[in-house]
Amino acid sequence: MPARWEPSIRIVASPNRRRTVSARVVDGVLELRVPAGMPQAERQEWAERMRARLERRLRRARPTDTRLEERARALNRRHFDGRLHWTSIAFADQTSRWGSCTYAAGVIRISMRAAGLPDWVLDYLLVHELAHLEVPHHGPDFWALVNRYPLTERARGYLIALDHQAGRADSDTPED
Ligand SMILES: [Zn+2]
Repeated sequence: MPARWEPSIRIVASPNRRRTVSARVVDGVLELRVPAGMPQAERQEWAERMRARLERRLRRARPTDTRLEERARALNRRHFDGRLHWTSIAFADQTSRWGSCTYAAGVIRISMRAAGLPDWVLDYLLVHELAHLEVPHHGPDFWALVNRYPLTERARGYLIALDHQAGRADSDTPED
């Protein structure tokens, strides 16, 4: 089981609201709208209730792929001291990018076309997206994390060559 989904939570008190509470995710932040008169303790209860509800919905909507999940766990232990947490990791039918990470929601997607790659290249893609759980951008901090995987440079070269072969020189292989 992946770890708990723990988004940042923003509570907005609305003077127009009398009883109902609503919740939505905005840029990875769980935003709750509550009546202005609601006591603090009750706001916190609602925040947890809505978090749990959205987490269940997220898990149902995005099934976890076992192979990716197992590899990601091993990579997490080996290169990140096991400290990373995510909501779901799965193959997805995305053609323009090899992988993506919805940073705040902890959702990682790997392109279906990566399913046929050698394990060591797939592992690089996973390490890349896992590193995004901690660093959303591609700065030096990010690459310092990714380079803990010793085959990073070789895997990037492999993917660039593959993209050129396929005439996809413009896809953002090494970046996303
Ligand atoms: Zn990236």
